[in-house]
Formats: sequence, C-alpha cells, structure tokens
Amino acid sequence: MKIDVLSLFPEMFEGVLGSSILKKAQEKGAVHYKVTNFRDYADNKHQTVDDYPYGGGAGMVLKPQPIFDAVESLTGQADKKPRVVLLCPQGERYTQKKAEELAQEDHLVFICGHYEGYDERIREHLVTDEISIGDYVLTGGELGAMVIIDSVVRLLPGVLGNEDSPIMDSHSSGLLEHPHYTRPADFRGMKVPDALLSGNHKRIDEWRMKESLRRTWHRRPDMLKNYSIDEAEAKLLEEIKKEQ
Ligand code: SAM
Repeated sequence: MKIDVLSLFPEMFEGVLGSSILKKAQEKGAVHYKVTNFRDYADNKHQTVDDYPYGGGAGMVLKPQPIFDAVESLTGQADKKPRVVLLCPQGERYTQKKAEELAQEDHLVFICGHYEGYDERIREHLVTDEISIGDYVLTGGELGAMVIIDSVVRLLPGVLGNEDSPIMDSHSSGLLEHPHYTRPADFRGMKVPDALLSGNHKRIDEWRMKESLRRTWHRRPDMLKNYSIDEAEAKLLEEIKKEQ
C-alpha cells in the first residue's frame, strides 16, 4: 500500500511513522509512506496556503490551489484513482469497519487541515471520503491521519505476526475483547481465573467468549444490537444476565 499525507507540519509524522509496527511495516515492504508539505505547491511568491473567508468572519481558510495541485501531482500518473481522505470533524465517524475497508486499497491520500477549515471546493471535487476521528475538535488533521494510518497498516497482510492477529481485537469481532492475564498466577492475593490455568482449551475458549460478551454487555450494549449472536453465545449471555 502507498500512503501519501499532505500536511503543513510533516515533522509531526516522524515519530509515529518511524516507530514500532508502522516502521516495521515499511521495512517489510507492506507499505510506503510519503509526507508532503502542500505549502511547497503554493503558486504565489510567499507560498501562502490560506486566505480570508468570503463573507467575513473569524479564522483563515485553506486555499484550493495548493491542495488540488499537490493531490494531482501525487496521483496524476496512477491508473487507478486513490482514495483521498479529508480529515474533518464534520466527516463520518471513524470505525474499525472503515479501517478494514481502507486496508483493501492500494493507495490512500490523507489531507490534513488547519485553521478554520478548507475551501468547500476541496471537499466537493477532490476528496472521496471525509472522516472524523471523534466528536471533538483538534487543531489540525495530523493526529487524525496518524490514528487512521495506524489502524489501517496493522491490518495489512504480514504486518502483525500470527500471535498478534487482529481478528480477535475489540471491534474486529463485533465484541469487546476478553480480559488478559499474565504471570504470576497470584499477585498480592489477586488471582488469575481458574479457567485460564486449567490447560483445557475448550474451557478457556468458553471463558473468553463469556467474558467478551460480559464486557460488551456492560460497557457497550449498543454493539450487541448489531452482533449476530449464535446459540451458544446467546446461552452465555443469558447466564451473564442472571449472574448480575
Ligand atoms: N472550523 C472547523 C469546523 O468547525 O468543522 C474545524 C477546524 S479544526 C480547528 C482544523 C482542522 O483540524 C480540520 O480542518 C481537520 O483537518 C482537523 N480536525 C479537527 N477535528 C477533527 C476531528 N474530530 N477529526 C478529524 N480531523 C479533525
């Protein structure tokens, strides 16, 4: 996968793309990142990228020209049009489902805004997706782009080892993940549940499924509404409800 980022602050990406799994993913050849300062595309003497809003009011608006030119120069030669993602608090709210959808693409372009916002023509004629990472307002789109890149890249084939498989992660399965424990079995009198120490895989799997259902029911009952529950899981859920 090729990932292009357009930002006025490319240095913000160095730590995140140059560390941990995201760095290893590039080293393994699963992904190639390129962060471009779209100021370099501004066609005016002072390389201005923003201007006053028509109609007046507070804040500056990102001009269309530098962003259109930057996207076109990065994608112009491509046979297949890439997904062009605009980070924006007005966009669709980001989910694991969207991460899975974006992970199928060969080329993603992220546009990180700043100031009051973008000229509307960018939104209407250049982007394919507008994404918000939550119902709050950030200073710029960079942190949002990093959140999306991280969640997409870890889904690419070969990026995570089998032991870190994302299939059971919270939200991937439609449920929150079960609790985890590691050694020691008894820490200051706080004990690891017997089922996990039993060595009986069927019992362990059932414990994990039940705790995953319990956690989802307690913390995110809304997720259970969209989850297609099987007979065994429905039975476990009934037990959980009776245990309360
Ligand atoms: N005036 C804009 C509005 O009300 O929609 C907010 C502009 S915000 C200060 C500047 C930039 O930060 C946005 O253009 C966007 O790129 C980014 N941003 C802010 N909040 C975001 C969010 N929740 N998700 C994704 N990007 C966000």
